[in-house]
Amino acid sequence: MSNKYLVSFVALFSSVAHAHPGEHHGGFFSVIGHLLSEPDHLILALLAVVIGAAGALYFRKRNSR
Ligand SMILES: [Zn+2]
Repeated sequence: MSNKYLVSFVALFSSVAHAHPGEHHGGFFSVIGHLLSEPDHLILALLAVVIGAAGALYFRKRNSR
């Protein structure tokens, strides 16, 4: 799967990444505080980091051949 297709695939499901219904109100720092204090956001952020790291490792190994 080329990078272009992978990015398109991830973009298709980006709306699923919302942790809960509703919007985040308030200033920048209150939103950041909310994102770092809510377990649902932290789980999704951790998942995104793991998927991103796995993808980076995959492409790094594939390109080093
Ligand atoms: Zn939230």
